[in-house]
Amino acid sequence: MAFVEVRDLVHIYNPGSTFEKRALNGVNFSIESGEFVGLIGHTGSGKSTLIQHLNGLLKPTGGSIVIDGEDIAGKDVKLADVRKKVGLVFQYPEYQLFEETIERDIAFGPKNQGLSADEVTERVKEAMNAVGLDYDDMKDRSPFELSGGQKRRVAIAGVLAMMPKLLILDEPTAGLDPHGRDEILQEIKDIFKKRDITIIVVSHSMEDIAEVADRIIVMTGGTVMMDDAPREIFKREDELVAIGLGVPQVTSFMRAFNKVCGGVDDDCITIDEA
Ligand code: ADP
Repeated sequence: MAFVEVRDLVHIYNPGSTFEKRALNGVNFSIESGEFVGLIGHTGSGKSTLIQHLNGLLKPTGGSIVIDGEDIAGKDVKLADVRKKVGLVFQYPEYQLFEETIERDIAFGPKNQGLSADEVTERVKEAMNAVGLDYDDMKDRSPFELSGGQKRRVAIAGVLAMMPKLLILDEPTAGLDPHGRDEILQEIKDIFKKRDITIIVVSHSMEDIAEVADRIIVMTGGTVMMDDAPREIFKREDELVAIGLGVPQVTSFMRAFNKVCGGVDDDCITIDEA
């Protein structure tokens, strides 16, 4: 069995009311341990609804979700255990920082796991290091004094300090300037390289996804429309455009993809830059 198995997942918001909305309409996919998957789709395609099922925040209307052998939609599941395994970094996670110091903010999760003070400090150091923040320089500073990009790193470190096996990042580059975007994507790539971890990055940006993921899942209308290697997804440009992943996006995806494969490999797709 794969590390993540999602079968026939259906989610209906406000069932039976005039606001009823079928947000997921039979979603199926599997993810092996150690994969880096990009989840893309236009606004309203069901991405947020889907990822909130993966750490138990939402319960399915129908279907099943098994992570690391455990049915997380089942009755007996302990959500605290699910959240140890599955770390979810929300959009604009910096809005959830609340402690007086960076160290205390990042330590919050591991402390609640019942670890010793030394173990918690180790987790904080390791997580700060993973997101490029110097522990000695930064630990006693207030998270609220930091730049937007640095705050986001503190928030990501807080999730990493829980040592999740599956890390899900929802629009990790949203609202950052190009430099901040490049830094965050690089850090995510480094985390993937250095840790024994499975990552899902959710984005509406083809360019971001093409830069980091080995496999792309494309959602539309609450279902999975494509699930393949980036180069295979890219070949279906007309279908991507048809579901609202517009021409400029597809072109930037092609450019990013060419950059990733060096523009020389036979598998690269050359684009007309004119
Ligand atoms: P995405 O993350 O791809 O933008 P969402 O999962 O947020 O998509 O939304 C999927 C569909 O479900 C959309 O039609 C959206 O309007 C609807 N939806 C999302 N959240 C709620 C909610 N809390 N109540 C009712 N409908 C919702």
